[in-house]
Amino acid sequence: MAGAKSGARRATKKPVRSGALVVAVANQKGGVAKTTSVASLGAAFAEAGKRVLLIDLDAQACLTFSLGVDPDAVETSINEVLLGKVDAVDAVISCADGVDLIPSVIELAGAEAQLLPRPGREYVLRTALEPILPDYDVVLLDCSPSLGVLTLNALTAAQGLVIPMPCEMLSHRGVGQLLDTVADVQRILNKDLEVLGVLPTMFDGRSNHAQAVLADVGERYGLPVLLPPIPKTVRFAEAPAVGRSILATSRTSKGAAAYREVAAGLLDRL
Ligand code: ADP
Ligand code: MG
Repeated sequence: MAGAKSGARRATKKPVRSGALVVAVANQKGGVAKTTSVASLGAAFAEAGKRVLLIDLDAQACLTFSLGVDPDAVETSINEVLLGKVDAVDAVISCADGVDLIPSVIELAGAEAQLLPRPGREYVLRTALEPILPDYDVVLLDCSPSLGVLTLNALTAAQGLVIPMPCEMLSHRGVGQLLDTVADVQRILNKDLEVLGVLPTMFDGRSNHAQAVLADVGERYGLPVLLPPIPKTVRFAEAPAVGRSILATSRTSKGAAAYREVAAGLLDRL
């Protein structure tokens, strides 16, 4: 009897996906520090000893470039993975920051149209990643500035979502729309998706306005705010040119320290 009881309890338990925790970094606005956050959090997780895979889901390939990989010289990218031409493992590149990368190429712009008529088009990334999840602890998805099929694929493949948002007036416009999309995804495609929080970026602590925006953001949307805020510093603009994240180019800067703290907080929660 007791055995049957505990068996029933086991059966109702939520299935745990094996391997890496997949986190999408998304906001359909451009220039909010999605790519910078993926590169920096990825480097911070790697510093903490985690096996990290970063995936560039933007045809502009900024993450690929920032990690020292020339998108024009990439032979196998996320594009071929999504179109089912290669296995994900065959598109992985090891980068100097101690992270692995599945790069993007400009041709990814056409993938959206090619995926559209396919059945189960929102599940393509999730399915493609399954075989390599056991090889990693964390997978971060750098989304493009849109809520199109590629971003829906990211939200379907992820257990967590981080929403970078600059601490400036009007920067939160569009977050409502993003959260509506998240609710649809949770209802239809991926009930396990959890919004881990808003990540305040480009924070100018001297500005009262930035302080006010930061105070308002969490309350307005009922979302956790990932702290500390990432300070605004020119160091972030310099790092991609040498193909490393700010954690390597400016190890002791406030920006690097802030991303390390946010990464540690996320690891605690996850
Ligand atoms: P997204 O991926 O959302 O389009 P990016 O990460 O490419 O945004 O960042 C947009 C620009 O802002 C880049 O030039 C980047 O170097 C810069 N940037 C990002 N974070 C900061 C920061 N904390 N302080 C100053 N500049 C930043
Ligand atoms: Mg970007």
